[in-house]
Amino acid sequence: PSALREVLIEVPNVRWDDIGGLEDVKQELREAVEWPLKYPKAFERLGITPPRGILLYGPPGTGKTLLAKAVANESEANFIGIRGPEVLSKWVGESEKRIREIFRKARQAAPTVIFIDEIDAIAPARGAEGDRVTDRLINQLLTEMDGIERNSGVVVIAATNRPDILDPALLRPGRFDRLVLVPAPDEKTRLEILKVHTRRVPLAEDVSLAELAKKTKGYSGADLEALVREAALITMRRVMRELPTELVESESEEFLERLKVSKRDFE
Ligand code: ATP
Repeated sequence: PSALREVLIEVPNVRWDDIGGLEDVKQELREAVEWPLKYPKAFERLGITPPRGILLYGPPGTGKTLLAKAVANESEANFIGIRGPEVLSKWVGESEKRIREIFRKARQAAPTVIFIDEIDAIAPARGAEGDRVTDRLINQLLTEMDGIERNSGVVVIAATNRPDILDPALLRPGRFDRLVLVPAPDEKTRLEILKVHTRRVPLAEDVSLAELAKKTKGYSGADLEALVREAALITMRRVMRELPTELVESESEEFLERLKVSKRDFE
């Protein structure tokens, strides 16, 4: 069997509204990705060259992947998502071929957002460990990025927690020359994230999301999502204890109505 796995084209369903806070970042992505993809003619007329590559950097679990998916969706573009380590570990020798294939597919399906998560895995500074595979991979990536034609409808978004170890060649003009910080959420952002994740969770009256936002200093968006999920599960377990299990099967609708997340569950 070939190690070269099919390049998957997705149409993500994430919207801007599904991302709590990060208004500055969203606006930056609107201008750098959504507008050029949606209104290429206007950009051409005004002589603005939109960026080919954008690097999102910041701590883990802060919404980088979510942002890339949302901007693709909101731009009515296709989405090709790859993870740096996945390209490296599974496609040694065929890695360059895979990069070529990704860009070919992207051009074919344009407008397309290519998202490379954990780009640091394929792009540590060249020569650092004399890693030939990585070298060739970076060269291939650079070649492909240099070859993206103006208004061709292909944009590359990469994400990393370690911008400091990236090969500087990747950050040169015309490549990932737009660096956007996706910061750890502050209290206000945590509240927005909690609102997003409790949208479909019935909350007991004594739940104060504002209070919870205050208490969750140091939590990432991913942590907050897990917190809400855990709370719902705790409630679920409690409900399970109260109700005969048959009811769960036969009257699951009513059962779900009773699902409540109370403040106690978060502590
Ligand atoms: P990593 O660096 O680990 O790849 P990331 O920055 O790409 O992380 P995501 O994968 O986008 O983070 O986020 C993980 C999960 O955390 C999301 O699926 C989402 O549920 C939640 N999340 C993170 N940030 C936010 C946010 N700002 N609003 C809503 N949910 C968020």
